[in-house]
Amino acid sequence: MANELLIKNGRVIDPANGIDKKCDVLIVDGIIAAVGEKTEDGRQKTEEERRVIDAAGKLVTPGLIDIHVHFREPGDEEEETIASGSAAAVAGGFTSVVCMPNTNPPIENETDVEYIHRKARQARKTHVYTMGAITKGLEGVELAEMGFMAEAGAVGFTDDGRGVQDPAVMLRALKYSSMFDVFIAQHCQDDRIAGDGVMNSGYYSAILGLPGSDPLAEQEMLWRDIQLVKKINTRYHAQHISTAESVELIRAAKKDSLPVTCEVTPHHLLLTEQSCSEYDTNYKVNPPLRTVRDVEALKRAIAEGLIDALVSDHAPHLQSEKELEFLAAPFGIASLECELALFIKALIEPGILNWPGLIELMTVKPAKIIGVDKGTLGVGKQADVTIIDPDAEYEIDVTQFRSKSRNCPYHGWKVKGRVEKTIVGGEIRFEA
Ligand SMILES: [Zn+2]
Ligand SMILES: [Zn+2]
Repeated sequence: MANELLIKNGRVIDPANGIDKKCDVLIVDGIIAAVGEKTEDGRQKTEEERRVIDAAGKLVTPGLIDIHVHFREPGDEEEETIASGSAAAVAGGFTSVVCMPNTNPPIENETDVEYIHRKARQARKTHVYTMGAITKGLEGVELAEMGFMAEAGAVGFTDDGRGVQDPAVMLRALKYSSMFDVFIAQHCQDDRIAGDGVMNSGYYSAILGLPGSDPLAEQEMLWRDIQLVKKINTRYHAQHISTAESVELIRAAKKDSLPVTCEVTPHHLLLTEQSCSEYDTNYKVNPPLRTVRDVEALKRAIAEGLIDALVSDHAPHLQSEKELEFLAAPFGIASLECELALFIKALIEPGILNWPGLIELMTVKPAKIIGVDKGTLGVGKQADVTIIDPDAEYEIDVTQFRSKSRNCPYHGWKVKGRVEKTIVGGEIRFEA
C-alpha cells in the first residue's frame, strides 16, 4: 500500500521550478508525486493510506539547506552531537545540513566521513553531509586525503575555523580538488593580519580596549584565493563573507565568470561591532561583527544576487566557556533554530528579498554549491519539504532549543515566521 501525504492549499514556493502559487503537493512513498491544483486521482483514500495536511495561509517550500554548521562530534559532544544538532536542524526547518570538519579530531579521512554519516543515520532527523579537512590536522601544511574523503561522500573541503595560510598549499589543494569535481571552501582570514584580534578592529575595539582583527585579513586572503582560482579555474566558495571589500572582490570574480560562490550569515546582517560594547561574549564570532557600512554592503549584495547561500555558521559552545572574559571565550553563535526567522527579519521585512528570493538562497542555490540533487519540489525528487507560517509572531527563547548549547544573542528577540513542519524523505520529522 502506498504511503501518501497530501499538503493542501499552501502557497507553494519552488524557485528551482519557477513556482509561486497556491496549490497542493502530493508525496507518495517519500517522493514528490505531484504539484498543482489537481493532485487527486478521484479514488477515496482512507486516513491510513493518506495523511492530509491543511497548509492554508502557510508557505510550502523545498526543505531548507544550511551548508555551514558545526556539530562538534566527535570530541565535544557536551556542546553538540550529530543527534542534538540534527534535532535542532529539523526544528529550524532544515532537511539538509553540511557539517564543518573542525571537530576533535578533525574529519580528515574516509573513516571520519563514514562516522558522521553513520551517526546521522542513527539520528534519523535531517540529511547530514560533511566537508572534509583540506589539510591534515587543519594545520595548513600537508594536504588531507581529499580523494578518499570525496569517494566516501564528503561534499567539499575546508579548514574552517582557520584559513589555509600558505598560498602554495592552497594552490595544491585547488589543483587536487579539481580532479574530484568537489569544491574548496575557505574561511578567509590571514592570521598575520588578524593577529589575536577578538573583535573587528576600529573605533569600538579601541574604546573597549580589546585587540582588533583588521577586516583586511579577510579581504587579503579572498583576493589571493581569487588569483589562484584564475589560474586553476576550479570551484571555490568563500565562507561567511563579512566586509564591503569582500563583496567587491566577489563582484569582480563573478564578472570575470570565475567559478566563485559565497555565503552570508544572519549575524553579519543583523549585528554590528557595536554589539560587543557590553563585553557580552555571545557577540564574539569569527569573522567578527563588522560596521554598519559592511552590513549595508552585504544587504545590497544579496539584493543584487551576488550572494549564493545563506548559512548559520551554527557554532555551539558551553555556557561555562562563554562565561569566560571576552578575550578568552570561544568564537561562535548557535542559531540553527532561529536562523529562518533571523533571515526573514534581515531580508524580507526590509524588502531586500521577496519570499522566492529568500527560499532560493536557502534551498536550490546551496544545493548546487555542494553538488546534491536537492532543494526543489520537482516531481520524482525525494520529498524534503518545509512548511512555514509566515505570519506567526513570537519571541526567540533559547531555553526551548533542541541544540545542547545556548550561546545565542537573539534570546528575547521578537520575530515573525515560524517553521510549522519539516518533512524529510516524506516523513514528518518535526512539528511545531
Ligand atoms: Zn569560519
Ligand atoms: Zn564555521
